[in-house]
Amino acid sequence: MIRQLHENLKSGKVTSVELTQKYFDEIDEKDKNILAYLTLHKEEALAEAQRIDDKIKKGEEIDLLSGIPMALKDNMCVQGGRTTAASKILDNYIAPYDATVVKKLKKQGAVILGKTNMDEFAMGSSTENSAYQKTKNPHDLNRVPGGTSGGSAAAVAGGLAVYALGSDTGGSVRQPASFCGVVGLKPTYGRVSRHGLIAMASSFDQIGPVTQTVEDAAIVLSRIAGRDKKDATSAKSGGKLYEDYLQGDIRGMKIGVPKEYFSDDLSSEIKEISIKALEKFKKLGAELVEINIPHNEYALPVYYITVPSEISSNMARFDGIRYGLSVDDQEQSKIGGGNLLETYLDSREIGLGTEVKRRIMLGTYALSAGYYDAYYKKAQKVRRLLKQDFEKAFESVDLIFSPTAPEPAFKIGEKTTDLLQMYLSDIYTVTANLVGVPAISFPIGTVEREGKNLPIGGQLMGRWFGEEELLNAAHTFEIN
Ligand code: GLN
Repeated sequence: MIRQLHENLKSGKVTSVELTQKYFDEIDEKDKNILAYLTLHKEEALAEAQRIDDKIKKGEEIDLLSGIPMALKDNMCVQGGRTTAASKILDNYIAPYDATVVKKLKKQGAVILGKTNMDEFAMGSSTENSAYQKTKNPHDLNRVPGGTSGGSAAAVAGGLAVYALGSDTGGSVRQPASFCGVVGLKPTYGRVSRHGLIAMASSFDQIGPVTQTVEDAAIVLSRIAGRDKKDATSAKSGGKLYEDYLQGDIRGMKIGVPKEYFSDDLSSEIKEISIKALEKFKKLGAELVEINIPHNEYALPVYYITVPSEISSNMARFDGIRYGLSVDDQEQSKIGGGNLLETYLDSREIGLGTEVKRRIMLGTYALSAGYYDAYYKKAQKVRRLLKQDFEKAFESVDLIFSPTAPEPAFKIGEKTTDLLQMYLSDIYTVTANLVGVPAISFPIGTVEREGKNLPIGGQLMGRWFGEEELLNAAHTFEIN
């Protein structure tokens, strides 16, 4: 997709301004129903498109991403632009600098169409926790696009951006990709700088591409990856071009199939589609190996202790003083208003949504003196055991396969009152973040619901910093 558009731009078949305008026209027409975008950057986008067209006219070399219209999840800072993380507390927040990924994309001449909707501060699984709007799934407007990068996934699936960036702390790129029938990649922890990404849980967060093809994911990753001195956890990538590793051949590759992921809890229709995908991998020359992830049953509980703990710490900066909303007058006040403490309390009470408050409370509890050992410390120990399970598994296999999510896109409102059901949406995705490995979701089939075909995604997880192998396997699956 990106490569083709790049060729069209270079050959003059279409100009970047025309292409960008076409996307804005589509947004005008369709986004009133899909509600993928929170903010559009029309002027800046068209100016950048013009700059790229001028370069092409002068015969200058352009990058694969130059002049290609894309979207950013609204938790990544764009200098001078509104960045809300879909929260009321950041309603009027204008970012003073570019996130490193944004800087890198701008350097390549990417055309940023706008910022996409998400669950508030990336907490949720359906994008229903946005303080602004509920994004709809383009395959069925009665259903959620998944979350938390639901705006990004819906924009790409609905033809409102060529590709987008999302962030993934427990599945937020992969699960919406699965629900919307597109590709979502969570890189290895440390592969992509998180500088300028509004932090959720810092030992989990990664930025990743949402794209129409696996090749596009590789192309985008190559351009956002790498060491950044502003993110101490980022790793050198050696300027690798991941698209050069897509040989389309996986003969001899060993794909692990964890027993725990295919238990009786998995619905028969998702199991069937997953087995078909595995058979296809086998036909393509891969060897399927049954493996064990002995501590798998603890992944979700460990995630929902450690992640809220990190959230409660990260969210402390939103105090009504430093950023965005500040409630300091008595009329607005719910507490009384007047002094500093009341401003803190009022700003957070009014500015933050229910799920965010819930996580702050859960995390504060898990970290508090007297409970720290029983919850946070214990969870960290089990996290370590899970990592060891994966180290062991990768001694005998190259990749691990599972469904991305236990079901297709659910209906809007279906899970908003049943928190556990909402959390269970991440059962297959949180583990990659807990242990730090890269993981990709790609379409492997559809199921029918009320006359509509809903996409189902498959997930492959790879070795730490093994994106080449991971992308090659998903690409080989996709082109065959
Ligand atoms: N749904 C998960 C959560 O609510 C994952 C969120 C994410 O990856 N940002 O924590």
